[in-house]
Amino acid sequence: MSVELPEAKILAEQMNQQVLGKQVKTCQTQESKGLQRIGMLEPDLTVFDKLVGTKIEQITARGNVIVVKFDNSMDLVIGLEYGGELFYHENTDDDSRFHVKLGFTDNTALTVRLISMGVIQLLSDDNLDSSYVYKRDFDYSKLSAPDTEFTLQNFSARLSEKNKMLKAVLVGKDAIVVGISNSTFQDILYRAKLHPTRKSAELSPEETKRLYDAIKYVINERIRLNGKEDFQDMYQKHGSYMPAMGPHMKDQNCPECGTPIQKLSHGGGHVYLCLSCQK
Ligand SMILES: [Zn+2]
Repeated sequence: MSVELPEAKILAEQMNQQVLGKQVKTCQTQESKGLQRIGMLEPDLTVFDKLVGTKIEQITARGNVIVVKFDNSMDLVIGLEYGGELFYHENTDDDSRFHVKLGFTDNTALTVRLISMGVIQLLSDDNLDSSYVYKRDFDYSKLSAPDTEFTLQNFSARLSEKNKMLKAVLVGKDAIVVGISNSTFQDILYRAKLHPTRKSAELSPEETKRLYDAIKYVINERIRLNGKEDFQDMYQKHGSYMPAMGPHMKDQNCPECGTPIQKLSHGGGHVYLCLSCQK
């Protein structure tokens, strides 16, 4: 499963409803060596002892990252990326599927497990910027859909400031928005009927509006449908959102016009698209 912006928002919302205010009784880590070696987990695991006795004060998601704030000014930065899981359940001893487990005083627990990518970091408030993923996604100079700052006016203004191909403007470290992956990009561009090599400053106001609407639609629909199909929420319930375009459309015809779907090498990856619909 992959946890991107919509899925991170779903998890944060569920955590706000379920674990906000809970007190940590135990904090365990396991299978840490492999993760630590590649920088996915705190090098000093004793730092997690600082959470014992604290209460969860706030949970926020931005981009693909979730930040859990505790009442001792410590923050757990969770980037689940591809394959990560965050589950809420009864606290039992036979549970083995975690790298970090927070046991609460009411005998419930949150477990976080990373698979192949992602990070779990515990940092103090004033040290949050030392986290690469935090800095990347909690960068408020960028827009985050569908938050209130993501207005058509703000989006158009940022688009016209850069004259780059749409992928560079929407995906990656120089993007004007956070939390859009290459896979989400293909879905958005197909719905917006735009070709990926189009340059941002050259879009007509009508095309900009289509792109804006497609971003909002894809993110809102994914939140509404509990994420993509391979995603599991905090209660291990699967999502049901199906992207309109992407690798699953290989060798298929466009549902809109019947043209065979093409695969294009673009921006250091591949983009599936319909050459008739996407101009
Ligand atoms: Zn088509």
